[in-house]
Formats: sequence, structure tokens, C-alpha cells
Amino acid sequence: MQAIHDIAHKVRRGGRVDRDEAIALYRDAPTALLGELADGIRARKHPGRLVTYIIDRNVNYTNVCVARCNFCAFYRPVGSQEGYVLGFDEIFRKIDETIELGGGQLLLQGGHNPDLPLEWYEDLFRGVKARYPDFKLHALSPPEVIHLTRMSRLSIAEVIDRLVAVGLDSIPGGGAEILVDRVRKILNCYNKATGDEWLDVMRHAHRAGLRTTATMMYGHVETPAERLEHMLRLRELQDESQGLPAVASAKTGLPAVASAKAGFTAFITWSYQPEHTELGGFEATGVEYLRTLAMGRIVLDNFDNMQASWVTQGGKVGQLSLAYGANDMGSVMIEENVVRAAGAAFCMDEIEIVRNIENAGFTAKRRNMHYEILGDPVFRERDVPRMLALAVARHDGDTSRPAELASYAARSAAEKRLRRSDLSEG
Ligand code: SF4
Repeated sequence: MQAIHDIAHKVRRGGRVDRDEAIALYRDAPTALLGELADGIRARKHPGRLVTYIIDRNVNYTNVCVARCNFCAFYRPVGSQEGYVLGFDEIFRKIDETIELGGGQLLLQGGHNPDLPLEWYEDLFRGVKARYPDFKLHALSPPEVIHLTRMSRLSIAEVIDRLVAVGLDSIPGGGAEILVDRVRKILNCYNKATGDEWLDVMRHAHRAGLRTTATMMYGHVETPAERLEHMLRLRELQDESQGLPAVASAKTGLPAVASAKAGFTAFITWSYQPEHTELGGFEATGVEYLRTLAMGRIVLDNFDNMQASWVTQGGKVGQLSLAYGANDMGSVMIEENVVRAAGAAFCMDEIEIVRNIENAGFTAKRRNMHYEILGDPVFRERDVPRMLALAVARHDGDTSRPAELASYAARSAAEKRLRRSDLSEG
């Protein structure tokens, strides 16, 4: 325990832990000690006992996916009767509902659908920005960007540039799982993006001046050391991105300025949800979640924000996260499809999130993706509808196909067959 005592002392003084120290802490430190160390870092980085949250909507534009990760209960193979693609009008309606609830952003992610080319995304983003110029698009995780590079045969930088040109504001950190290729091969997600490819998309996004988030899904086939390896890889890229010349400086030719306001905004970790998945198994416990979150706060000393994952852990553990390093309650979930497909459907609207934050002794503030404070809770300023159940991407049995799909060339055999039969019926 002497070693743990020395490492804890180093952390309390603001020191950076190395790999061996992180492994020793994660393996041997009592849970209460990890909480105390993580809470101390949170308090140093966020004085004033503010805890933030964002109102946005998690929209999954398609569930059709060729990647077939074995931990995923959400995707449907190409040609499945249960496959869907949302129409542009459906997405605009979801934006209207989000704005009504005080939200200003979509978290837009989906499957790797071979029948949605880069132009489909460009038209969608353009359409959103034409109708809602101030509305933000936090969209397309790194594996989706990689999928688009393969479909379009463009480089990562070219795809990101094209998406930014039509309104991409930031990139969510989905699809990271564990950034160790041994694990990715077992999870069948190595082909969708290797660990290096995931990091490379984020590196390019940071260079293009975009902020992004980082995630980690643990509790399946990885070892504790591999979880820490994942965190160390993120820390290394964050060091690199924060040392980059600011985008404005590069354009004006002014000297490089290292910026803490570059790179990843936040780290979000959650446990693997096993229900209805090919991989199966058990879900990690609440204590394991709190220990892992606390380690994230301790290891990722160059990240400002840690989100509580109440969507997978439930409101009660989500609230406890605020004592284990989290300074943010994530999103008021208006809609959720991916985690729900794997068996978790916790729902908290703004009133409930704020109640949990205040009951833990913090002040609740609304924020945007950049963690800029937008103000007090919306429901204290005006009447907003209560949301006691999560919306879904598509209601069961709705098999409608958006008309605009016909404007894009079909690539899969299933989609080509469907179009031929549409034509012969028409
Ligand atoms: S996790 Fe994403 S990429 Fe993997 S199968 Fe599910 S939808 Fe496809």
C-alpha cells in the first residue's frame, strides 16, 4: 500500500501518472480513494461547484450497417426488413421538436450503409443549415468517416473538409470501444476502424480546428491494462492536439500557440450492454463503472470534462458519478436507439437531470458542445413539455422509404433489387 500512498500523493499535488502507476492504482487502490483523488481533480478544474448538461437529440439516421460489430444490438444487415433510413423531412421534424425543448444540436450517428454516399450527407447537412443556420451538427463518429473515405476513395482530410464546408460543427467520439487492436479483432470492429484509424480521424479533425469527444466502452473482452492503454493513447493525442498551432494562426502565418481549447472536449465511458448482442455476457457493475470513471479523470489530466453516463448506468449511479470525477451529466436524452436495443432505456428529462445535480450539492447549468455556459435550466424560464419516455428513430412497423434516396446511386445488390421491384410495380 506504500506505493499506492505515494502515487495518491503525486496525484493530489497535480502530478501525471505513468502507465505502471495507473495500473497499480486501478488494481489496488480502494474505491473511496479513487473517488477522493478524482473528485479533487474535478474541484481543481471546475471550481464553483458547477455541473453542466446539454439539451440535444441523439438521432440515428440509419440502422443498416455492413460492419457487424458483435457487441452491437442496433444494426440490421443490408436488405433486412427492419432496416431503415430516415428521410430529410423526418430529421427536420426531429430538429423542430429539439428546438421546442430548448435544444440546439443533433448528435447524428448511424450504421455504415453502403447506399448512402458522401453526397447524401452533404445534401442533408446543407439542408439542415439552410433551415436552421444556428443549429449545430455534432455528427459522424470516426468509423463513419472512415466508411465514407472508403466509399468515396477520398482521404480523411478531404472527407472532413467536405463535411465542414456544408456545416459539420464537431465530431462525436463513438466507435472507439477500446483502442487496442487485439480487442478490436475479437469484437469484429477492427475492419471498421483500427485503433490508429480512429485516432487519425480525430487528429485530422483537431487539425481542421474541430473539437471532438472521446469515448470508451469497457467490460467485454479487454483487460484492465488495455482500458488504461486506451486512456493513454487518448492522452497522447490530446497533448499533440493542444500543442498544434491554432487554426487562425496557421492561416495568418502568426506563430504557433499551444491551446488548451483544442482537441477533445470530454471523455465519456460506459459499460458494454450485452442484451440481444451476438457477443453476450454480463454487464459490469456500478462499482466498476465508478472506478473506471475515476481512473479516466486521474489519467486524462489534459481533458477538462468527464461526462457521467447515466444512460447506461441509470440516474442513481449517474448522480454518484459527480463524486467520482464527472463534472457533466451529458445530454438530456430526447431520443435513444443504440443502448436501448441492448437492453438499457433509462430516461431523464431536464427537470430530472437538474434534480439529480442539485440534490448532489451542485449548481446546474446548460452548456453547448464547447462547454460554454448557455444559462440556467430552460424549464425555469418557460414551460417545456415533460418527456417521460424516450423517442425512437422510427416507430415499429414504419417501413416507409424516403423519396430522396432514389437520387443517389444504389451500391448494394439488395437496394438495386428493391429499386427494380419499385419500378416494375410503379
Ligand atoms: S456499432 Fe456501429 S458500426 Fe458497429 S455494427 Fe453497430 S451500427 Fe454498425
